[in-house]
Amino acid sequence: MANFERKAFRNLLTLNLLSCIFSCYFCRHKNRLNNTHNMKTSNLASHTEKTKESLNFIESIVEEDIRKGKNKGRVHTRFPPEPNGYLHIGHAKSICLNFGLAEKYNGKCNLRFDDTNPVKEEEEYVESIKEDIRWLGFQWEGEPRYASDYFEQLYEWAEMLIQKGLAYVDDQPAAVIAAQRGTPIRPGIVSPYRNRSVEENLQLFREMKEGKYQDGEKVLRAKIDMSSPNMHMRDPIIYRILHEHHHRTGDKWCIYPMYDFAHGQSDYIEKITHSLCTLEFEVHRPLYDWFLDQIVTGSYRPRQIEFARLNLSYTVMSKRKLLELVEKKIVNGWDDPRMPTISGLRRRGYTPDSIRNFADRIGVAKRDNVIDVALLEHAVRDDLNKTALRYMVVLKPLKVTLTNYPEEKTEQLETTNNPEDLGAGNRTVPFTRELYIERDDFMEDPPKKFFRLAPGREVRLKSAYIIKCEEVVKNDCGEVIELKCTYDPETRSGSVATRKVKGTLHWVSAKYALNVEVRLYDRLFNDPDPAGHKDKDFKEFLNPNSLEILENCKAEPALATAKTGDHFQFQRIGYFTVDPDSTKNHLVFNRTVPLRNTWVRISKNSNNQYQNSK
Ligand code: ATP
Ligand code: MG
Repeated sequence: MANFERKAFRNLLTLNLLSCIFSCYFCRHKNRLNNTHNMKTSNLASHTEKTKESLNFIESIVEEDIRKGKNKGRVHTRFPPEPNGYLHIGHAKSICLNFGLAEKYNGKCNLRFDDTNPVKEEEEYVESIKEDIRWLGFQWEGEPRYASDYFEQLYEWAEMLIQKGLAYVDDQPAAVIAAQRGTPIRPGIVSPYRNRSVEENLQLFREMKEGKYQDGEKVLRAKIDMSSPNMHMRDPIIYRILHEHHHRTGDKWCIYPMYDFAHGQSDYIEKITHSLCTLEFEVHRPLYDWFLDQIVTGSYRPRQIEFARLNLSYTVMSKRKLLELVEKKIVNGWDDPRMPTISGLRRRGYTPDSIRNFADRIGVAKRDNVIDVALLEHAVRDDLNKTALRYMVVLKPLKVTLTNYPEEKTEQLETTNNPEDLGAGNRTVPFTRELYIERDDFMEDPPKKFFRLAPGREVRLKSAYIIKCEEVVKNDCGEVIELKCTYDPETRSGSVATRKVKGTLHWVSAKYALNVEVRLYDRLFNDPDPAGHKDKDFKEFLNPNSLEILENCKAEPALATAKTGDHFQFQRIGYFTVDPDSTKNHLVFNRTVPLRNTWVRISKNSNNQYQNSK
């Protein structure tokens, strides 16, 4: 599977037409809100009348099944993670799809842990998976399920296959069995153990279960067709011996079912109607159906439908690779804000809505493709723009002294909390003689289009006054350490405008500033397809600047009450959230995204013109 993934990724270099997707976004987004909030109790007929949205191909299948009365018109999906790692943004897509379908068609969605491999699974992962799904705003039906709950039933079905002459115990090592599978155009080699009697197979399988054999000494195989053009039908292994402790069943079992043997049967036990999985399982579908053929008795039957997995540019998504980054301490754990895990995105400052909107926007495809990570970044910008309160924080401070401003005076200047949401109200910001501005907002010898501060030049301080730079103070090394400026008392924001200047800067009063730490996160990889290079390891493409820590930033005092997980816009800089590393006296902010996409190559001569935002 890993191979397949890599190949798929390599072959695909579909850069998404952002503009096209954006233009459809608003109408899709509106539909989603309609769907989740208004459609819960509506039936299919009124649903299709009310929202004239276009259906994705899975919704079309589901609606067709409902129309035909298949499975009595029920819709029951499941999300089946293997608890061997933390969930990532690809899983979020699958969660939104499975839970979203259930919401839309008044159905149910189970959470099922696919815990058939005791070697890699851990309780920590189970808990994180539950937390992530709840955080995204979904609730599974009843208690979480576990494939391991069905081990007894699966074992009985395996014995039933043996009884029917449809399974046999093979004594050959796994490597030999693999070598005998042949190729798609060359039939496989029949195992010398294929024609064991039912009695002998039953006895050997029971002995396997009782622990009589070592790992790998025997396997149980389905007896299907060694010359099938579909390699998965060439007598696949369905049980293997593993003397391993299982996180739920303990030491009860030393044989474990393979994924293919557990999955469809678990769907059947849970009365799942639509079993959605990613495209690599398309070739497993005949096997899924073959196992069902052996056990289905009534008219109910689950159906497997495949969709394209989410691939994101500049991102690795395989759990194996993410685990490697964690184990080698290249990142600080699964929830490092640079990780594409749901817990990492949460810590980075992504909101559940931004992820759900993103999943909605990218839609459901039948062919593999690569989504530009800029679209995910756009989704969080878009969401936070509506809700995040604006504050002024200076990341790299440069002191400004207003020589004509009284020493002891403090003015409380009024400013809006969020121009996108007037209901968010106003606040006051203290203004004093000594201030900090951003070091980058001053240039001693500026180019023509630099509309910020320079010797003899004027700028407006946001929500305050126009100031003029009169003198530049330097240290012995020639570095600028302070600007002496004058302010114009006639130009207070809100008063009748007498004159305008081109640049507006954010600032913080030195007297009232909070010292805070800011972690500037950026993309973890600087290559669009880090895992897609044939002879190079994905770790060669790590972005050395993916984290910059600034210890001595100056924040306006209103931020003192910020709590972990709160979201803010630091004006002119970007969106930030409070990191759980924060303490009462030491706030740590993580940059979620800059205000603009800095990865778009800006022409060198544009000189970073800032909007003159008052
Ligand atoms: P990985 O390849 O990252 O190790 P996986 O497929 O082994 O993922 P599972 O825990 O088995 O991970 O996945 C649970 C569900 O999430 C499955 O239904 C799987 O198809 C789906 N899923 C996993 N990765 C993606 C993805 N990138 N896009 C969409 N769905 C995904
Ligand atoms: Mg899997």
